[in-house]
Amino acid sequence: MIPDWRSERWRMVDRQLRKRGIHDPRVLDAMLTIPREEFVPHEARVCSYQDEPLQIGFGQTISQPYMTALMAELLELNGTETVLDVGSGSGYHAAVLGQLAARVISIEIIPGLAHQAEQNLARTSLGGKITVICGDGSQGWPDAAPYAGISVAAAAPEIPEALLTQLGDPGRLVIPVGDLWDQELRLVVKSEGIIRERIATFCRFVPLRGGAGWR
Ligand code: SAH
Repeated sequence: MIPDWRSERWRMVDRQLRKRGIHDPRVLDAMLTIPREEFVPHEARVCSYQDEPLQIGFGQTISQPYMTALMAELLELNGTETVLDVGSGSGYHAAVLGQLAARVISIEIIPGLAHQAEQNLARTSLGGKITVICGDGSQGWPDAAPYAGISVAAAAPEIPEALLTQLGDPGRLVIPVGDLWDQELRLVVKSEGIIRERIATFCRFVPLRGGAGWR
């Protein structure tokens, strides 16, 4: 029997997001409309709306829905921004950001996943505003900077300097920072030349690789 994806999405949004405090209507709407089941491997489809990360191949995961929503909400997007998404993975998070911003540059270090993200976005017709690039996102992507929003889906030992440089003013950056097992999700807000930082929550992401990552 084919699951009723719309009801699964609705339940996920209600139980995992709204009840945990996600309130931005644009974020809730994006999570309610984007077919997450199209971004997970075929054999894991029935698990698409579970409250946990899922394996997507190459030792990587698609983040827990709550984490994707929280990170998107923290960026406070209004639809006019250019956003950098580091760690395309399945392309799901990029699709969510694509519904919230004007343009998304999504960068992925594993060629097979960059290809997969691109294919998932094309198949769902959600890739219109999204450019997937294969490269080391720990160095950002200077060509399209500055970014009003930067979202990093892999854990860094420290906030990469290049990302702070490429963050616009005003601009908001979300990134998990810590060791390989425990991290804090940090929100960095740049405004009128001043950078402020706070911890949004505690989390566990796959490691950021590349020059400013764990290599
Ligand atoms: N946002 C993804 C989650 C991907 S998990 C989704 O919605 O499915 C994190 C991803 O970051 C992995 O695919 C991993 O390969 C990628 N990654 C790790 N280090 C990176 C780097 N330096 N540059 C770009 N991508 C990186």
